[in-house]
Amino acid sequence: MSEMSEFSNPRRQAATEHDDSSVTALSERPIRIVLVGTSHPGNIGAVARAMKTMRLSALRLVTPKVFPHADATAMASGADDLLARAEVFDRLSDAIADCGLVLGASARLRSLRWPQMEPPEAAQRALEESAQHPVAFVFGRERTGLTNDELALCHGLVHIPANPEYSSLNLAMSVQVMSYELLMTSRAALPLRENATREVATAEEMDYFYSHLEQVMIDSGFLDPAAPKHLMKRLRRLYGRARPDRQELNILRGILSAVEKQRNNT
Ligand code: SAH
Repeated sequence: MSEMSEFSNPRRQAATEHDDSSVTALSERPIRIVLVGTSHPGNIGAVARAMKTMRLSALRLVTPKVFPHADATAMASGADDLLARAEVFDRLSDAIADCGLVLGASARLRSLRWPQMEPPEAAQRALEESAQHPVAFVFGRERTGLTNDELALCHGLVHIPANPEYSSLNLAMSVQVMSYELLMTSRAALPLRENATREVATAEEMDYFYSHLEQVMIDSGFLDPAAPKHLMKRLRRLYGRARPDRQELNILRGILSAVEKQRNNT
């Protein structure tokens, strides 16, 4: 690399001003890579390799078609320790239950308005928030990506800019791009934003809240369970944008309990 290009790349410059401790930091962060419904075990191995080269280690698999498999081990090529430690789940909601920030990687720009970002912004947010709670990056199936229901469990979408007429990267390559971005961002200084000091509710806590809300809406006659339309999805999007912290979520649940109590007394 010529000197010229070193100096023209601000991230590279920032990194040279830091000792190695900022690099090690990434491996200590609770950042999980979650693969949903992967068909080709070779891709799982290639993802493990992509992660390990970029100092990530927590791999979670949701209903992989076949795993473990010799193709996964072969493609991991020395990153098989990540495969050995990979956790397997039946449902995406379980795989992300302990996470306070969940970002879904999507090859397409979706019509529904989830907050969309590109890898640098996603990496910045993930690193800031991982100081407070685990963060998940969710990747979809090779053929069909993530379903709308799965995307509804995400706080935002990451899209890797690509040829608009051919925008779908191989699964492991998209993990590589995102992981590289995380490594590069972790090497630069990380100014803490206000967001990073908030104790945001985890996905599991939000799920309890949504069930509670749905129940109160049904009991009060606001929501007809026979014709729910997209109400819950819309409300999830609304509260997902607000990213309530624990205390705020307690207030919301307190209101719901008060409404329930009132109804039971009348
Ligand atoms: N045909 C599928 C693409 C699946 S590729 C679709 O249109 O959704 C498998 C996974 O790799 C995707 O679910 C996504 O998580 C990731 N991926 C592929 N290309 C991507 C891109 N340009 N940006 C972000 N993620 C991408």
